[in-house]
Amino acid sequence: MSDHVPTDPPAGPHGHPAPPFAITLEVGSSLANQTGAWRTERPEYVRRLPPCSDACPAGEDVQRWLYEAESGGEGYERAWRSLVRENPFPAVMGRICYHPCESACNRCELDEAVGINSVERFLGDEAIARGWELPAPPAATGRRVLVVGAGPCGLSAAYHLALRGHHVTVRDSAQQAGGMMRYGIPAYRLPREVLDAEIQRILALGIELRCGEPVADLRHELREGGYDASLLAVGAHVSRNIEIPGGTAAHVIDAVTMLRGVASGEQPQLGRQVIVYGGGDTALDAARSARRLTGVNPVIIYRRTRERMPAHPEEVVQAEEEGIEFRWLSTIAAARDGHLRVERMRLDDDGIPQPTGEYEELDADSVILALGQSADLSPLAGLDGVRVSDGVVEVDERMMTGHAGVFAGGDMTPGERMAAVAIGHGRRAARHVDGWLRGIATSEPPRERVIGYDELNTWYYADAPKTVRPLLEDVRRQSTFEEVVHGLDEGSALYEARRCLSCGNCFSCDNCYGVCPDNAVLKPGPPGEPYAIDLDYCKGCGICVSECPCGAIEMVPEEI
Ligand SMILES: Cc1cc2nc3c(=O)[nH]c(=O)nc-3n(C[C@H](O)[C@H](O)[C@H](O)COP(=O)(O)OP(=O)(O)OC[C@H]3O[C@@H](n4cnc5c(N)ncnc54)[C@H](O)[C@@H]3O)c2cc1C
Ligand code: SF4
Ligand code: SF4
Ligand code: SF4
Repeated sequence: MSDHVPTDPPAGPHGHPAPPFAITLEVGSSLANQTGAWRTERPEYVRRLPPCSDACPAGEDVQRWLYEAESGGEGYERAWRSLVRENPFPAVMGRICYHPCESACNRCELDEAVGINSVERFLGDEAIARGWELPAPPAATGRRVLVVGAGPCGLSAAYHLALRGHHVTVRDSAQQAGGMMRYGIPAYRLPREVLDAEIQRILALGIELRCGEPVADLRHELREGGYDASLLAVGAHVSRNIEIPGGTAAHVIDAVTMLRGVASGEQPQLGRQVIVYGGGDTALDAARSARRLTGVNPVIIYRRTRERMPAHPEEVVQAEEEGIEFRWLSTIAAARDGHLRVERMRLDDDGIPQPTGEYEELDADSVILALGQSADLSPLAGLDGVRVSDGVVEVDERMMTGHAGVFAGGDMTPGERMAAVAIGHGRRAARHVDGWLRGIATSEPPRERVIGYDELNTWYYADAPKTVRPLLEDVRRQSTFEEVVHGLDEGSALYEARRCLSCGNCFSCDNCYGVCPDNAVLKPGPPGEPYAIDLDYCKGCGICVSECPCGAIEMVPEEI
């Protein structure tokens, strides 16, 4: 009889139980026989890239920290520590990230995506409440890096560079750090005490922050400051404007200027009839802020349809709940004496808006333009080799510009304009800056294969509907800048973490151990050790593969 008949209850590599939403099998009791060499295939434990981690632009290993969080208690701190290895802003991102990880989550096909973003926020808030600190930086390398811009990209890069022992100076033209997280995103989506707490924790690593000090000429700063490398992350703050015929008759302001004013404590003069022109998230932030400031419902004018609006659908729904009105398929034709002339549009076969010649009049005390932003790249003007295309700076796969030792990231470089992308750029750039400073060639790792839904054995997962985040009541949403979306309580966060299917990676459910008719699966001894196959006993039937819930075992051809 085999000497590895299982007796222990299921336990994970960290000694924590398997997620409760996976049905696990009892251990088999068959007698095992040595098989000899007649197998043509044998099972192999694999590690696969889950789609959530693949889709997170900040580069988080989402599954890893969800797995730690699943055990609750001390697991939360382990989860947070695992998360901040990549992203030092979990409480911020748990509020403002548009969570492409959830759109990619395999659980979408079973019921609804795991609430990754809400668990991330829970962990970030726990860390702030409990005062968890980041790991101390290693011994100083003596290398000095200048980071220009204290937005998510610059601060993420500063964090990762400090954790590699480099001295980092961050310069920003604004009075406080945070970039668009502070001067763009309204406080009802991101309370400033949360932002401040996460920024302070990063700065406590010994980063030198110099606010109110714009960099006008990077070449001069590098020469005079004695820096060994620099990262430019100045964002995109220059609003794109259009000429509205007669527009001087109306009060016209751009959305970024208006939001920056509100964030700085100013009260913009908007009047009572506010029109917002544009279809992105900035338009929604401007309209929702105006609603809170004026007490009257603003109107958003957008030239395409709701379906083609670049704003995220959940933001549109929240705006509607707060009373924002929309005029789809409309453009502003002219402004005159407190009125706007708005033309109806129609979409042609290519989805391009075309004029119809039909007009309506709208009252308007002010018009807020939210038509996108471009980057002010003048600090780079004197540097040889820097290439600009479509208004953004070209970088290679190391995030380096055409000028050796000058790196760039975030909104001023090509890519989607969102905070998680900027954070990911900062992290990647820091790794390559570090290589540059040490004279080591660095490159991006090859892309791993992502495990798909059809590779899972979803029969083993029980139904577990997604938790809904509570919202502030409507009346207060229309008149205050109090936070709208609330966090999950501990029970809900734990439940949400346990909804993870652990796609492509073993979560120690013991099914393979239980179903193997030949008891050929060896359970790990010390926590953290992987399962193994005793090939003296495995006859290659593949039952373990077909009964593994998460696709963590594959059959491979037998080596002859
Ligand atoms: C209204 C609004 C709402 C948004 N909402 C979201 C959201 O909910 N979720 C999301 O993921 N993304 C959102 N975004 C996008 C997101 O904020 C940006 O993609 C992100 O902030 C870009 O980061 P960054 O570090 O590249 O630049 P920024 O955040 O813009 O930071 C750049 C920094 O550089 C500084 N700077 C500029 N020029 C100089 C200079 N010459 N010298 C020194 N300092 C300089 C600026 O003061 C600023 O602090 C929003 C953007 C806007 C405008
Ligand atoms: S940063 Fe955004 S994409 Fe990444 S895990 Fe968090 S919510 Fe998902
Ligand atoms: S179920 Fe879990 S591992 Fe799979 S994609 Fe979703 S969050 Fe990631
Ligand atoms: S490999 Fe699969 S079946 Fe075996 S313990 Fe891990 S998750 Fe369970």
